[in-house]
Amino acid sequence: KSLPYFCRGEVVRGFGRGSKELGIPTANFPDSVVDSLPADVSTGIYYGWACVGNSDIHKMVMSIGWNPYYKNTKKSMETHVIHKFKEDFYGEILSVVLVGYIRSEKSFPSLEDLVAAINSDIEEAKVMLELPEHSKLKEDNFFTSTT
Ligand code: ADP
Ligand code: MG
Repeated sequence: KSLPYFCRGEVVRGFGRGSKELGIPTANFPDSVVDSLPADVSTGIYYGWACVGNSDIHKMVMSIGWNPYYKNTKKSMETHVIHKFKEDFYGEILSVVLVGYIRSEKSFPSLEDLVAAINSDIEEAKVMLELPEHSKLKEDNFFTSTT
């Protein structure tokens, strides 16, 4: 497996599926970052660490999925940082490490079920990232060498 997987890229605009309205904004990576994903990083929901610019490192959950904008021929990578930010950070560099896999992508019968699933993913991420072998990745040089 290719985890942990480190990558960074500019935060670009998604196509506004209203993630923010659900209380779960997702920062999108540009195609260049998505295209660099190793083939064995399958679609689904991941947990890991994330850092905006040179700021603090936070827990995150990331969805890697098929992007409807490209008629599901292209993957997208969307990161929800588990932190309350004062402002949006479009245009900033987001650094992430994918640490573990939570589940495959699936569709839900209702928006309510989707939100419940994401909130349970977030809870799982919080717990898993406390494990010593996962929390140590927060200390990786990858996050400090962004000056
Ligand atoms: P878009 O379709 O442009 O991705 P979203 O509704 O998903 O719109 O909102 C994503 C944007 O919200 C991010 O690009 C970022 O600037 C901002 N944002 C604020 N807080 C967070 C957070 N905790 N995690 C991810 N993005 C956040
Ligand atoms: Mg988004």
